[in-house]
Amino acid sequence: MNPVKAVKGTRDILPPDSAVWNKVEAVAREVFRTFNYQEIRTPIFEETALFARGVGEDTDIVGKEMYTWTDKDETSLTLRPENTASVMRAFIEHRLDQIPGVKKLYYIGPMFRRERPQKGRYRQFYQIGAEAIGSESPIVDAEVIEMVVDLLRLTGLEGFHLIINSVGCGSCRLAFLAALREKLAGVASTLCTDCQRRATTNPLRVLDCKIPEDQDTINALPSILDHLCQACSDHFTAVRAHLDNRNIAYEVRPRLVRGLDYYMRTTFEITHGSLGAQNSVLGGGRYDGLAESLGSRVAAPGIGFSIGEDRLVMSVQGDQQQNTVDVFVATMGDAADMHAGELCAELRAQGISVERSTDKKLKRALEVASKTGARYALIIGDDEVSTGSYSLKDMAKQEQTKVTRSELAGRIRAGNPKL
Ligand SMILES: [Zn+2]
Ligand SMILES: [Zn+2]
Repeated sequence: MNPVKAVKGTRDILPPDSAVWNKVEAVAREVFRTFNYQEIRTPIFEETALFARGVGEDTDIVGKEMYTWTDKDETSLTLRPENTASVMRAFIEHRLDQIPGVKKLYYIGPMFRRERPQKGRYRQFYQIGAEAIGSESPIVDAEVIEMVVDLLRLTGLEGFHLIINSVGCGSCRLAFLAALREKLAGVASTLCTDCQRRATTNPLRVLDCKIPEDQDTINALPSILDHLCQACSDHFTAVRAHLDNRNIAYEVRPRLVRGLDYYMRTTFEITHGSLGAQNSVLGGGRYDGLAESLGSRVAAPGIGFSIGEDRLVMSVQGDQQQNTVDVFVATMGDAADMHAGELCAELRAQGISVERSTDKKLKRALEVASKTGARYALIIGDDEVSTGSYSLKDMAKQEQTKVTRSELAGRIRAGNPKL
C-alpha cells in the first residue's frame, strides 16, 4: 500500500520554515495594532453567490478557479478564493456600519484557488489582508498604503516597488471606457486572443495583459488619468500629497486597473524583484460600490489590500535566522526527572524555550542537544538536586559552569538577545 501524500498544489509548512511564517505574521499583527486594526475571522467556506457577486462572474477566479460543491441541502458552497467579499458580508450582516468611525479589520489565513501549480503558487495559499471601511477620505487611502509599506519593511523585505493609480468613478470611467473601446476597435486584431475577447467583454482587462508582443500597443492606449472627473482627480492628488508628506516613494502607472465595476479611485500594487515575472507581493484598492453589489442598503466605502504570504515568506526567507531552543535539559535518575519538571516550568514561565531529554544516557542527550542547536545544556543528577547547584553548558563555546537555581534564568536569558 502506498502512503497517502499531500494533495497536488498543497504543501506542508515544516520547521524551520514555519518560524519565518510566524515571524512575518507577528510583525503584521504588531503593525496592524499600531494602526488600530483588529482581527476578523470569517468562515473558510461561504455560499458561492457571495464570490460570484463580490469577486465578479467575469474573472478567472470565479470562472475557472473556485472549489465549489453542492452541499447535501443543495446549497452551492465554495472555499473562499479571497477574503474581501467575506469581510464585507460580515460587515453588512452584523451591521458594523452602525459603529461610529472607520472600521479597520485585518485577517490572516488560507485561501483556495484551483490554479495550475507552479513555483510559488499553491492551491491552498495564504493571505494577510486588511480592510478600512466607512470613509471615502484620501487620508484613509494614504494611511493604508503607509501601513503596508511599514509592514513589508519590518518583515525585512528590501527593494520593493510601490505602484499607484486611480481608476476613477462610475461616471468618469464611462468616458474613459468609450475612448478605450474606440481605440481598441482599431488595434484589437493585432493583439493576443485573450485581448481580442476582452476588447469587447471587459476592455479594462486588456491593460492587464502580460504578453510581451502586446505591450507597445497597450501602452499607446488612452490613459484613465486623462479622463478623471474633478472629484476623482482631487482625490488622487490628495492621496499623492499625503504619500509625499510621509516620504513614501511610488510610481504612478495608469495601466494599473481593476476590471470590476465597484473598484474605484485608488488602486495600488507592490512588486519585488526576487519574484521574477510573477513579482507582485500585494495588491489593493478602493471598492466603494462593493457593499451595494452584495445587497447592502447602506453605502460602505472602503479600501483594502491582500498580501500573498507565500510569496512574502519566499522573499524574506534569505535572511531568516535558524530558530533554536534556549536550553536542553538532560537528567540522570528519577529524582532528577521530577526536579527537572519544576525547573522547566520555572524557566518557561520566564519566556525561555526548554526541551527535555528523553534519553537516560548523558552522552546521547548532549549529542541531541548539539544537533537541535540548543544554546545551553543543563545537566541535572542526584548531586545537583541535593545541592541546588547545576552544571550549565554553553554549547557553542563548549564551556561548563556551575549556577544556582536563582541565577539560572538570568544566565540563560543573557545568552539570547531576543529574550
Ligand atoms: Zn470620477
Ligand atoms: Zn494580450
